[in-house]
Amino acid sequence: MNLSAAHYDSIMREYDNQRLENMHALNERTQKVYDRFPEIRQIDEQISDLAKAYASSFTSEGHMSFEEYKDKLSDLRMEKEALLKCCRIAPETLALQYRCPDCQDTGYIDNEKCHCFRQRIIDEMYQQSNLREILKAENFSTLSYEYYDKENLEKMQVAIETCKKFTENFDKTFENILLCGTVGIGKTFLSNCIAKEILDQGHSVLYLSAFQLFDLMAKNSFSGNTPKEDSVAKQYPHIFESDLLIIDDLGTELANSFTMAGFFLVINERILRKKSTLISTNLSPEEILTTYTERTASRIISNYTMLKLSGSDIRLKKKLGGF
Ligand SMILES: [Zn+2]
Repeated sequence: MNLSAAHYDSIMREYDNQRLENMHALNERTQKVYDRFPEIRQIDEQISDLAKAYASSFTSEGHMSFEEYKDKLSDLRMEKEALLKCCRIAPETLALQYRCPDCQDTGYIDNEKCHCFRQRIIDEMYQQSNLREILKAENFSTLSYEYYDKENLEKMQVAIETCKKFTENFDKTFENILLCGTVGIGKTFLSNCIAKEILDQGHSVLYLSAFQLFDLMAKNSFSGNTPKEDSVAKQYPHIFESDLLIIDDLGTELANSFTMAGFFLVINERILRKKSTLISTNLSPEEILTTYTERTASRIISNYTMLKLSGSDIRLKKKLGGF
């Protein structure tokens, strides 16, 4: 991972702050519950007193056995559970809640970086921190068919079903998607829907426009004309290794021998590593085949599911307020 020590420290501080925030949130929730239901506070106090009594009994006469402590604690807990039910308070209200329950907002599981940490590094390195915000608004649950007429609607429905299956089978099968269609018919929206699902599953997602992708590779290229696999892998490992790479707007980059070679390198390496890629483009499948090299075209034909969307510009329709 190519992350500076300062960046690493700043991410770790975020985790520390998140845990503090979780504590504050819990204290606030608890206080509200106590204010409304003093009997819950009382039982919590009894639980805490019991623990103190057990601890101090070691140094005083009348030692409380562990069994006795356990039994008493279990009784109190059952009593509390019944009380919470009676007051209609979900037990998790009085427990810590985590942004990432897998690592409990520590960033690590058994000394290994948690998926949330790995994704955080990608967000930092490739400046895609705003992705989460976008995905809150653009995901399968906010998808609308309102702006499609009948024929285009059917195509869109097929595309959505295919994309949903892609996310559902992400762990089981190696699949790639090529989303083709003109500007403003929902390709980026659909890419975002997929990104959200895959991130929610705990996988890493790197989202780059074709322009950004080739720009990164060009910055990294020391040899001039051809991007080198090992130097890209060293400098920007996630281009090859992220669980899902989304290349948005293929075809808008400057077409030259460098980008041709770079594009082949990326899709070929990812196929070899069995890492899924989603490409969205305004080019038609035929144009892709003629724009890029033959070996690139052949990789795409044999490894990608092509989805062709059609229709008129939805963004324009939305602006005009419908049809
Ligand atoms: Zn985590």
